[in-house]
Amino acid sequence: MEYKTVTSPEKKNISLVAHDNMKPALMSWCKKHSDKLSQHTLYATGTTGTILKKEAGLDVNALISGPLGGDQQIGGLIAERKIDMMIFFWDPLEAQPHDPDVKALLRLAAVWNIPVACNHSTADFLINSSLFDTSYPKSIPDYSSYLTART
Ligand code: PGA
Repeated sequence: MEYKTVTSPEKKNISLVAHDNMKPALMSWCKKHSDKLSQHTLYATGTTGTILKKEAGLDVNALISGPLGGDQQIGGLIAERKIDMMIFFWDPLEAQPHDPDVKALLRLAAVWNIPVACNHSTADFLINSSLFDTSYPKSIPDYSSYLTART
């Protein structure tokens, strides 16, 4: 696979997801950082997004609930290059019925070189990075040159 450089914009599209046991931690993290987060466009799985709107007062695009397809929706947005960053507080201590979807979402985030925070500390590092609200050149798969090489 060839790679090409694209620019992640200053105003980012950020996806937020939390498994049920992790929702309180994500809620308090989002409340703490609501000033910074509100400068960006936010997407979340259904229940996470609904609670975030209510409890943190954030303007969030709430998708389908994760176990019902929301993780796959976010994965699709990542593949379409419509997500620049993901904060995903997944639960390392409880099996999820949609485990294959969780794995697929994390895989797509790796494929498309998306910065991902899977816990509170990493989320702190991301939000306090100077790159959080500046543009950032990054490498992604170059599918058109892949196709050209095969035809
Ligand atoms: P939810 O989905 O926000 O709808 O609970 C999260 C998940 O389990 O992926």
